[in-house]
Amino acid sequence: MIPGVFEYHRPSTITEAAGLLTRFGDDARVLAGGHSLIPMMKLRVANPEHLIDLQDVGELKGVSITSDEISIGAMVTQHELIQNDALASAVPIIREAALQIADPQVRYVGTIGGNVANGDPGNDMPGLMQCLDASYEVAGDKGTRRIAAREFYEGAFFTALADDEILTRIVIAKPQAGSGYAYEKQKRKIGDYATAAAAVIVGPGIGSIAMTNLGDTPIWSAGANDALAKGDVDGAVNAVMAAISPASDNRGPAEFKKHLAGVILRRAIERAQGRAN
Ligand code: FAD
Repeated sequence: MIPGVFEYHRPSTITEAAGLLTRFGDDARVLAGGHSLIPMMKLRVANPEHLIDLQDVGELKGVSITSDEISIGAMVTQHELIQNDALASAVPIIREAALQIADPQVRYVGTIGGNVANGDPGNDMPGLMQCLDASYEVAGDKGTRRIAAREFYEGAFFTALADDEILTRIVIAKPQAGSGYAYEKQKRKIGDYATAAAAVIVGPGIGSIAMTNLGDTPIWSAGANDALAKGDVDGAVNAVMAAISPASDNRGPAEFKKHLAGVILRRAIERAQGRAN
């Protein structure tokens, strides 16, 4: 299949890109790495008349790390996340998770912004960002705002991002010193989306869990986090299991996915606890 006809735009600033989105409204989509959008256009599931390529918007690139906060530009590729040693030292779960996304070819061009903005329940980064309690900075013609990753996902491919807004940066508070982490992903084969995945951060008095591809949105539960922070692993697992609602599909029946979710979540918690000190 080939995509429908579209007009291609290549702005060089956020303001210019936001202006194009406002001008063309529903008929426009931004293009980042294109590894989710272009396949959807080829299938004619997405038919934007205006494609706004963000490649030249320098403000959307780069990673900055301060003593307490990490800010990642939306156009940072998954490959760049993996290559960044300072980032891996500050938040090592990002490299662990990014290495399990697709394959090197996809990771060279797929961006963190595209991954989190897409709203695909199969994408790995949204759950990870909920586990890390990240915020998304978004910009539009009316100004900028921050949206918590835990409040961003409304349904499969539905997010809190308005049609005329661009996700510009992802902001993460540095995880507490001494906390352990693990990203466990079960997939059918190398390069596949998750059948189920679990992100876990745990340490003295803190716990955070989010799961991927077990419902229309990433699964995050305040009850599970409270239980994990108190060292109540069974309570945390039970709270997550009560929140998931996997669908039967070509990755397996719902009952299998529920079983799998429990297994990988316990494995992730155990590995994260082993890394905490
Ligand atoms: P694009 O495809 O360019 O955009 C995706 C959507 O997000 C579009 O609707 C676009 O308009 C919107 N968007 C992009 N950037 C912004 C922004 N800054 N602000 C607002 N909206 C924006 N992903 C996984 O997580 N795990 C996997 O295992 C995995 N496996 C894959 C295997 C294959 C073979 C392929 C082709 C893809 C796979 N992916 C996987 C998806 C891949 O990681 C995508 O690159 C990613 O999900 C989307 O990022 P992108 O930069 O390509 O975004």
